[in-house]
Parts: sequence; structure tokens; C-alpha cells
Amino acid sequence: MQARHFSDSSEEPLYRRRMDENPGQFVLNTHKSPSPAYLILHRVGSSCLAKQNPLLSYSKLCGDRAGIEEYVGRSFGFNFRKIDECGNCFRKWSWQPSG
Ligand SMILES: [Zn+2]
Repeated sequence: MQARHFSDSSEEPLYRRRMDENPGQFVLNTHKSPSPAYLILHRVGSSCLAKQNPLLSYSKLCGDRAGIEEYVGRSFGFNFRKIDECGNCFRKWSWQPSG
């Protein structure tokens, strides 16, 4: 599924619905004007994403990992070296694919 970027606070209901309908996906948090200096990946369903009105201050890109990477590379208009994983959502003890 194609990633979707939510950048206006009026889109909050759509953003919430997207997460409700896609519990296995991820949310990339970035500035209102997306920046390679701030790209943090969270898991849908985590406490990180429970805050109210996040779209007032930030924008959110929702999708699976491949879709998010593809969208950032294609649509944000900058090169990025990596996407940082949130320390809360990607704890050391959680399952990670090897390699
Ligand atoms: Zn998180």
C-alpha cells in the first residue's frame, strides 16, 4: 500500500483512521516541512502516537517500511542517509529480523 503523508491538522481524523485500519504499519514523524535532519520511525499502536493534535506541530507519513522509504525518496525532494527508529518502539528486546 502506498504511504500517505499527513501534514495539516485538519487531516487528523484521516490520520487516526489510517492507523486504526493498518495496525501493522509505521508512522514516520518529521517536521511540517519534511527535513532529512528529523525522520523518526514509530510503530502504529505505540504510546508515542497517542498524543493529541500532533499535526499541529509535525507531519506524519503512514505506511509500511518500503512504502515510507519510497515516498521519502520520491516526494520529499531530498536525499536521506537513514531513517532513525524510535527507541521506545524498537527496543532491544523486541524481535528483529537477522541480517
Ligand atoms: Zn516511538
